[in-house]
Amino acid sequence: MNPLRILAAASALLVAGPIAAQEAPSGPPDLIVAISVDQLSADLFAEYREQFEGGFARLSDGVVFPSGYQSHSATETCPGHSTILTGSRPARTGIIANDWIDLKTPREDKTVYCAEDESVPGSTSSRYTVSPVHLRVPTLGAWMKAANPQSRVVVVGGKDRAVAMLGGDATDQAWWWNGSEFVTYAGRTAPETVTRLNTSVAARLAEAQPALPLPDYCRRYDRAVPIGNDRTVGTGRFSREAGDARAFRASPEFDEAVLALAAGLTAERALGKGEAPDLLAIGASATDYVGHSYGTHGTEMCLQLLALDQTLEKLFTVLDAQNIDYAVVLTADHGGHDLPERNTTHAMPMAERVRGLSVPTIGSAIAGELGLSGQLLWGGAGDVWIDPALSESDRIRVRDAAVARIAAHPQVEAVLTREQLLAGPAPDGPPETWSLVERARASYDPERSGDLIVALKPRVTPIPNPGPGYVATHGSFWDYDRRVPILFWRRGMTGFEQPLSVETVDIAPTLAALLGIDVPVEIDGRCLDLDASDASSCR
Ligand code: ZN
Repeated sequence: MNPLRILAAASALLVAGPIAAQEAPSGPPDLIVAISVDQLSADLFAEYREQFEGGFARLSDGVVFPSGYQSHSATETCPGHSTILTGSRPARTGIIANDWIDLKTPREDKTVYCAEDESVPGSTSSRYTVSPVHLRVPTLGAWMKAANPQSRVVVVGGKDRAVAMLGGDATDQAWWWNGSEFVTYAGRTAPETVTRLNTSVAARLAEAQPALPLPDYCRRYDRAVPIGNDRTVGTGRFSREAGDARAFRASPEFDEAVLALAAGLTAERALGKGEAPDLLAIGASATDYVGHSYGTHGTEMCLQLLALDQTLEKLFTVLDAQNIDYAVVLTADHGGHDLPERNTTHAMPMAERVRGLSVPTIGSAIAGELGLSGQLLWGGAGDVWIDPALSESDRIRVRDAAVARIAAHPQVEAVLTREQLLAGPAPDGPPETWSLVERARASYDPERSGDLIVALKPRVTPIPNPGPGYVATHGSFWDYDRRVPILFWRRGMTGFEQPLSVETVDIAPTLAALLGIDVPVEIDGRCLDLDASDASSCR
């Protein structure tokens, strides 16, 4: 199946020449290809696994961990990407959320974006200079460069935060989509491949996209689900008006552009052909935009995943044609689940949207009750911050009142305090057995996290009112948001499946062992032995 009219440059970049006969390689690979498919839950992978014929099918012949865990409770994009190539959980990477609140910052905007450089004059959480400066730990790319400075690190992605977290400060090339074109860090220039692809994408965007044909398998999902205001989701086929960049972003075309850029930069930079192993990291973001816009069980997600399967295979075929010995890991930054309006018709009558949980409003009520003034509470489901200007005794009174009032909300599972989290046990053992305190602690940073962490009950979607582009989401403590597939593949490897849980923090030490390099810092993950025999790929 190839429903797409392919980007002109993407087409050129994703078409391989004849492939030479290849033997199973030995020794360290020449190129690591690390792919994050944003919002690819373990549940979606399981649902579509038998339908894949392309890149996902190839990877499924390798080593498959169907129960990988983004083990922490802050199951958002920035924290999730921060775990994949650092070996550490967000508590150590410092990336506790996509955005957090810093009430002590002198600037007017108290919200901090995870991938912004606050030191740039005029920076705000929505108008910012992209930077990995908040990431407190080095990435695999930095470990590789420490082992051999000739290693090159190329990162491309649909989101700036994915690129910043996968590459850290060790990138030679770093490119993300800014809403209209692929851009990079200030002061860097575009190689020819990027200029060419941007031109091609612009031309593609300027054309309308007709509806994609629906593969037979996707017909089972073809049902309109009302979401209010005469709108429905579930039957979309990615038809797009000329120039509609938002629709482009939430469609298979977007991943195709990102993977074409990855393929083009691999060829232009001759990755995998140098003196030392190279790293190509890819953030494929379209699955997330599709999930947020249409949920996970309509024709839209079906078309997206079957298209991505084909696009991934095109990328691998390009690498094969260049005779590169590469090893792939594919995973996700978090999972996700469907919108409540469809879940309620799919045997989950208890699925619902959050109602009437306004933390600032609760703060106002507490101010009245305790005779205090000003805004006392910031945040919402997830982190809640208490006014740092309060005296210690007032802070404790406000904290206790907030815990009582938030916990009384019928959709709240638990309210955890900073004190409880810092005193609680460090996460240990299989992640599915962790307590809520352990899950929250795995993404708790004493400097950045809230004074309270609020867990909603399972199956509560934290979007009160669905709107265009935002009907379903992730971010919860629950396994539908924590579980992701982790797939390793290299030509000639003997595959196996290990259904027991592992963590995304295990990926970086596993790749380091494959490369034969040291892990130069303390991390949370462990090496996964990818050798199916008595021998071990871990040292
Ligand atoms: Zn994400």
